[in-house]
Amino acid sequence: MGRTIVIANQKGGVGKTTTAINLSASLADLGKKILVIDTDPQGNTSSGLGVEKNEVENTVYELLIGETTIEECIQKEVFENLDIISSNINLAAAEIELTGFEEKEFILKKAVDQVRADYDFIIIDCPPSLNTLTINAMCAADTVLVPIQCEYYALEGLSQLMNTVELVRDRLNPNLEIEGVVFTMYDARTNLSLQVVENVKANLDQKIYKTIIPRNVRLAEAPSYGMPITKYDARSTGAESYRLLAEEVINRGNEEEW
Ligand code: ADP
Ligand code: MG
Repeated sequence: MGRTIVIANQKGGVGKTTTAINLSASLADLGKKILVIDTDPQGNTSSGLGVEKNEVENTVYELLIGETTIEECIQKEVFENLDIISSNINLAAAEIELTGFEEKEFILKKAVDQVRADYDFIIIDCPPSLNTLTINAMCAADTVLVPIQCEYYALEGLSQLMNTVELVRDRLNPNLEIEGVVFTMYDARTNLSLQVVENVKANLDQKIYKTIIPRNVRLAEAPSYGMPITKYDARSTGAESYRLLAEEVINRGNEEEW
């Protein structure tokens, strides 16, 4: 039964989409069957995985407003072992259109539950906000994976995110847990990155991955070729780090405590 992981942080530019794309691709490379769901109207996860997002007929938007079934939304094997439900700018209207929908927080969950058994992992990328789309993702998910950018304001907004997770757990999805926190864009040449990591470790009482994602230009380049790092440059430090993260994610699922 697929473990559903939502990648969330209401801050933009922290590496959510880069992590969604490359963690998914690395898990797929390790032989796991993956479904990626892009719930950000920007659709960067979709285009980063080579999808012509504006030409897709059935996206997350059509799914949420009830125009289609989840099976019809899944684009199969865009890469080996990797399926996707994509999104595009149409999804920006969903927030308003869903107002008044019954149980609107659970639309994605109900859909995902129908296909869970087909996958090892379902990875959901989120928009940089705590809106209905993110809440839908958190209701569909088992766990939340939080990317934290190694910069001075790293901790800002984190308590708000953790409060939202608490709130969702209390009211909507009692099983929701923190999957883990992953540091992104680590720059070994600066003291700042190291200080941020130490500061967050000292102040955040959460599971933190041993793998730290370095700042790596190949990771930034890959999306413009519509490829995950596993295909664009499998020997880069970026590819290596996401592979290690994928191994940790797989092993976490087997461990009780870590
Ligand atoms: P988010 O989805 O949280 O807004 P993104 O994953 O889109 O963040 O990342 C923001 C920007 O930083 C993008 O241009 C992306 O290519 C770049 N980026 C993300 N992670 C890395 C990294 N480890 N090394 C270099 N560039 C990165
Ligand atoms: Mg993003």
